[in-house]
Amino acid sequence: MFEKVLIANRGEIALRVHRACQEMGIKTVAVHSTADEDAMHVRLADESVCIGPPQASESYLNIPALISACEITGAEAVHPGYGFLSENARFAEILTEHDITFIGPTADHIRLMGDKIAAKAAVKRLGIPVVPGSEGGVTTDAQALAVAEETGYPVLVKAASGGGGRGMKVARSAAELPGALSAARTEAKAAFGDDTLYMEKYLSQPRHIEVQVVADSHGHAVHLGERDCSLQRRHQKVLEEAPSPALNDAARAEIGAIVSKAMKGLGYLGVGTIEFLYENGEFFFIEMNTRLQVEHPVTEAITGIDLVREQIRIAAGLEMSFTQEEVTFSGHAIECRINAEHSQTFMPSPGLITDYHTPGGLGVRVDSGAYAGYRIPPYYDSLIGKLIVHGRNRNECLMRLRRSLDEFVVDGVDTTIPLFKELMAEPEFQNGDYHIHWLEQFLEKYN
Ligand code: ADP
Repeated sequence: MFEKVLIANRGEIALRVHRACQEMGIKTVAVHSTADEDAMHVRLADESVCIGPPQASESYLNIPALISACEITGAEAVHPGYGFLSENARFAEILTEHDITFIGPTADHIRLMGDKIAAKAAVKRLGIPVVPGSEGGVTTDAQALAVAEETGYPVLVKAASGGGGRGMKVARSAAELPGALSAARTEAKAAFGDDTLYMEKYLSQPRHIEVQVVADSHGHAVHLGERDCSLQRRHQKVLEEAPSPALNDAARAEIGAIVSKAMKGLGYLGVGTIEFLYENGEFFFIEMNTRLQVEHPVTEAITGIDLVREQIRIAAGLEMSFTQEEVTFSGHAIECRINAEHSQTFMPSPGLITDYHTPGGLGVRVDSGAYAGYRIPPYYDSLIGKLIVHGRNRNECLMRLRRSLDEFVVDGVDTTIPLFKELMAEPEFQNGDYHIHWLEQFLEKYN
């Protein structure tokens, strides 16, 4: 097992990884920009190294600085968290060239899944159902019109290098399609430096259901059930729950088995998430994420399995610590993403947290690096913490979540806590009766 791991991230996820390492007796190295000197991940780690100025491109994305930090501290492995370099195949390769272990999948798998066109083709060959759409990329208007003719409108134009919900445009008719293509192309080029596009049928009321998989280098591949991430704004997740209110045990076992078999066929290593849209009892693959996800704690809550510990074990060449038969699902969990944003306008609200109190008690977990007196820097994403609540069933989970939100105090900045309090009172949310467009419709009253 590794003696020292460098955590190439910040905020709550850096803390999350640090905690797993501590429990495994592994020393941690935090890295930070000059804007994060006072951050909790820096305070808790065994060692820390400043890797550059505030801009992420010069610090958290600065590969030479990260390699130097490993060499100075003698870290043998790097955990990338999520975001930043977590899905950068070149980073994984460079680490390997320096005899440093990347705690994640192989560079080849990251590269394959990072190209959403290639990813779709690959999983289709492995027996996973995909959203109907273009076979490969679309370049001309004529080609796009022909695809849309076949799938029917509305269609969604998507970026092959897409992520974070960017580079996606809906066309509801042939007249709208050329405009959607050129808008998606411009957005994709600016965001990803790649304007390759593809098309899918735009599903009207699907749920976003994703399956967590874990695979080791000893030929094991298992699934840990699903997460329902249908509560979204601008194609970005806001709240996640497990299990999905829309699936029964048979559907869960069926999609889980299809996915874990496909991962074995792919020779996948580490943790990963296969994302689907689910409509009228059918699953349609949209993409695979080759990293730990923000919402992983809801799976941890209902399975009792520490996903970061498994990642580290697998990267060290060990077997994962459980078999599919040993996985049991218990109760219900919901995660709320607490962002430093206004709860109606979603305007970012960096600044000084003047008072801070987290909820506690049975079934309540808060993953956050925030504290009273902490100044949220304006340079990074606005997620300041996650509230994860577990109960024996969905009802108990909701009651506990309501109570926990009431207890949560974050003063000095705006947060999304008031939005979650409002959602708790919505009958459709209470009944688990929502789809990927539901939250945007709910928020329309503020526009
Ligand atoms: P990204 O990598 O940018 O997150 P995804 O392909 O994972 O993009 O899609 C993100 C979200 O966009 C989905 O959760 C869903 O809400 C919406 N979406 C993606 N594809 C479709 C589709 N074919 N029909 C309807 N909504 C879609």
